[in-house]
Amino acid sequence: MSFDTLGLRPELLRAVADEGYARPTPIQIQAIPVILQGGDVMAGAQTGTGKTAGFALPILERLMAQPLVEGKRPVRALVLTPTRELAVQVGESMRVYGKHLPLRSTVVYGGVNINPQIEELRRGVDVIVATPGRLLDHAEQKHVDLSKVQVLVLDEADRMLDMGFIPDVRRIIRLLPKQRQNLLFSATLSVEIRMLAHDFLRQPVMIQVAPQFSAAEPIRQAVYMVDRSRKRELLVNLIKAGNWRQVLVFVNMKVDCSSLAKQLERAGVLSGAIHGDRTQEKRTKALEGFKQGRIPVLVATDIASRGLDIDQLPHVVNFELPQSPEDYIHRIGRTGRAGNPGEAISLVSPAEEVLLGNIQRLIGQEIPRLIATGFETDPRISHRAIPTRARIRIAGPTGEESAEVATHWSRPGGEPEQNPGST
Ligand code: AMP
Repeated sequence: MSFDTLGLRPELLRAVADEGYARPTPIQIQAIPVILQGGDVMAGAQTGTGKTAGFALPILERLMAQPLVEGKRPVRALVLTPTRELAVQVGESMRVYGKHLPLRSTVVYGGVNINPQIEELRRGVDVIVATPGRLLDHAEQKHVDLSKVQVLVLDEADRMLDMGFIPDVRRIIRLLPKQRQNLLFSATLSVEIRMLAHDFLRQPVMIQVAPQFSAAEPIRQAVYMVDRSRKRELLVNLIKAGNWRQVLVFVNMKVDCSSLAKQLERAGVLSGAIHGDRTQEKRTKALEGFKQGRIPVLVATDIASRGLDIDQLPHVVNFELPQSPEDYIHRIGRTGRAGNPGEAISLVSPAEEVLLGNIQRLIGQEIPRLIATGFETDPRISHRAIPTRARIRIAGPTGEESAEVATHWSRPGGEPEQNPGST
């Protein structure tokens, strides 16, 4: 299958060729013809599958099929994304795929000065890629008129749901014409997503493509069993011994992001951090440094990393396992992109074995376990660790039974160990 047969005009084919894409990915093969025909789509596809081109190319084609309006252009396509990073990335894809076309697109997101965005919107654009909150601000202040939108894309809808953006999305939808094309992309097609699709989409064509980690994909997964307190040391060893030049390290909590990056720097490994509490400027700077290869390590939380597209990322490390096994899939999807080999390493402490079990059940495979010499887990910790504080009582149905969940652990008679889940 080649791009030529999909019904895209030569300017788009040229842009695709410029990017070096030899053939369309499965999501592109399935989605492009449906979108070109004007149908609604509900697609189960995660970042890394080529989904962005899967909707951007046919949208650009459809916009070009209509005469361009003289004077200020009405907004005809709107892409909503859950994070600023994803908005920037999708905006960049629109620019790249549309570079031989006379269309204009812009990206709108919060956390930065609103004035340049107002200027752009005033000049008129064909396509807006936006995070919901900032777009609503613009709409409420009448900087943008959404009443001519013909195509709406909800990108990473599952994340929008997780992040509580759906009420904002509904408010935006009320500003759009009733008659329009709707495209929903989501890594998971959970019951909630299907319910959302039921509200937003009209007789959608369902498309589902294999997740990025499927056996055909070149991601090597491995687990190092290691005590929590020694993870940082092991990570430094792995980075130095393997001469890793680009590694995305995941932690679960924002607070751990910057502190781990600082600790790695103290151990001689240049590192940046990216999480929701950092200013947009700092996030962009860290991401750029990482993408350009100046900073070999980027420490990130799930939300901040979501949708980041870093070409040929060779290593992903789970410094701790995510609470939700789906997040594991999102995380390791950052590596092994578009046919490039990738490695996803998880540092797993004895307290995280349950999470590991959940992940293995979800992906339907056992991840090979490795033990780094000198980093063997201390059996005293796994078997005799005792909870010391912050006990949460969970009452059973009769009110008599109860379970206690420890959130802080210590060795019997020894120094308090670190809290599982924080560094
Ligand atoms: P996405 O899933 O949209 O984030 O895309 C993941 C990566 O795949 C991006 O770096 C794209 O540039 C790349 N890509 C998209 N379509 C193709 C294709 N047909 N062939 C090769 N790479 C592609």
